[in-house]
Parts: sequence; C-alpha cells; structure tokens
Amino acid sequence: MKRRQYLYGPVPSRRLGRSLGIDLVPHKICTYDCIYCQIGKTTQKTLVRKEYVPVMEVIEEVGRFLKEEAVSIDYLSLSGSGEPTLHSKIRSIIEGIKGITSIPIAVITNGSLLYLEEVRQDLLYADVVLPSLDAVSSEAFLKINRPDEGLSAERMVEGLVQFRKIYKGQIWLEILFCRGVNDSQSELTLMKEAIDRIMPDQIHINTVVRPPSERWAAPLNRKEMERIRAFFGETAMIISEFDRHPFPLTERDIKEEILKILRRRPLSLNDLSKGMGIPTEELERHIQPLILKGNIEVRSFGESVFYEAVKEIQIS
Ligand code: SF4
Repeated sequence: MKRRQYLYGPVPSRRLGRSLGIDLVPHKICTYDCIYCQIGKTTQKTLVRKEYVPVMEVIEEVGRFLKEEAVSIDYLSLSGSGEPTLHSKIRSIIEGIKGITSIPIAVITNGSLLYLEEVRQDLLYADVVLPSLDAVSSEAFLKINRPDEGLSAERMVEGLVQFRKIYKGQIWLEILFCRGVNDSQSELTLMKEAIDRIMPDQIHINTVVRPPSERWAAPLNRKEMERIRAFFGETAMIISEFDRHPFPLTERDIKEEILKILRRRPLSLNDLSKGMGIPTEELERHIQPLILKGNIEVRSFGESVFYEAVKEIQIS
C-alpha cells in the first residue's frame, strides 16, 4: 500500500467534480474554530503563517500520484485539515504543481487571511478560490466562526473585497447557515450588502449536514434554504453536500482506510460507501468489528447515523 502523507481522494464533489485534496496544515490548525466544523475542534488557533509541511515533499507527492494512479481528476484542491492559507509558501506549492500538471487548482479557504496583501498575492495563481463568509456582524462572526482574537468580521469582508479587485479567476463564495446563529433577516441583509461588494461568480449556500464540532449547531430545513437562495438571487445555489473539507478515499487496506477517513470527520455509511466505492453491505462487515473494538463510535445526528473514529490506533 502506498502511503500518502499530504493527499486524499480523489473525492467526488458537486462543486469540483473529482477532486484530489492536498493537505497543507496538520490537523487541526486554523484561524477559526467554527461551531459546525466537521473535522473537530481547533487545537491550534493561530494567525502565524509558516511552512507547516515541506513544499518539495508536497509537490513530489502530487507528481508521484499523477504518474502512478490512472484516475481522472478535475481539480487539485488545497484545503484539508485546517486553513490552507496559513501555509506561508502556498504560492510556491501552486506554482510547483502547475509546473507538473495542467489540472486546475482550487483553494478552499475560510478567507480570514485575505486582509493580508501577501495572501491575496499568493492566491492569484489559483484557478478558482472558494472562500467562506458565514457572518458579517461581529456578533454572528464571533459566535459561528470563533476566530483568532486578531481577526474581525470587518477585516475579513474587506479582504474579500480587495481580493476580488485583483483576482481574475472564479470566486465561489460559500455561506454555511446554522439555525439561530447567522440566519436572521438582519444578518442576511448585511451579507447581501457585503456580497454586492465582493462580487463572487457564484454563491454556494450550505447548512449543517454532518456531525458538527458543537452538538448544538443545528441545520436549516430545505424551505429555509430555498428562501435564502431566492433572497441572494441568480448567482446563489444550494449545495447539497458538505465539501468544504472533502474526505479522502482509495487505499487497499479497507480497515485502515475507513479509520483514516473517519479520523478526519464522521460520516454516514452511505457517504463512506460513495467515497470509497465499496458497497454498504461490505463496508458494514468491516465496520462492525471496529465498533466492537471501540475504534469507531456511532453517533446520531438528525435522522442519520454517523460513524466516527475514536482515536489514533493501530490495526492488528
Ligand atoms: S470549518 Fe474550516 S475554517 Fe472552520 S474551523 Fe473547521 S477547518 Fe477551520
């Protein structure tokens, strides 16, 4: 089995087709600690940009993957287990990958560091940038994103506005709604005003569909999502899946792969089955022993059942 340290997938994604994920920061380093985060609580909240993973190792691993794996990929996505723009050499990574493949590069970012000129310059080299905008008022921003204390909603919005002025590629803005947190009419109005200034090419509306970091983070229903979509207008669409941090698939050892995937985020049997390309019945045969051994925990959320890896363990 080939070990991949920085890559996961390819992941089927509604927004990006088949996307190969590239993890630029270790779990779970982020500028935010979002209440809905599906990959767990932030363990290192920071604004410090540095070379969290070695540039050359990432580029070489991408090169090896493309040479060895005969799979079609629509996008290479810089995202993963935290905020990718915290990597101080993200630009070198984008340029290095562009030197070995013409597959377009997407950056999935929370957008919090775009107030920095250097980050705006770094992302100019991406083909598509997918930033978040979950709140515009300070109150909702602090409640939903729980940002590093050096950040503010105003600064974050201004960063997005400035980036739009210089970036010629596609900007797909994602807004994730949590019931009672960022879905008031006054918040929606502020968002619309901000969106008019940011001028994204598309607006992707999402809600909590996988077990969140905080159990009290609750989703909107379809009708409420439709109402918000109509309010934002033609460029807005509801994205039915949660792919802000896509999950990985493809490895030969099924149990290890299941645990590797579930360590990143809890998933339902169907999601796991789709991601790994393994029928649900077969997956269940592998999962049951892992539940009995205490390696996997079963969690209910809404009407769905999710599986979650308990901690780092060795498969015997
Ligand atoms: S959802 Fe993304 S931005 Fe929010 S805490 Fe998780 S990794 Fe960070």
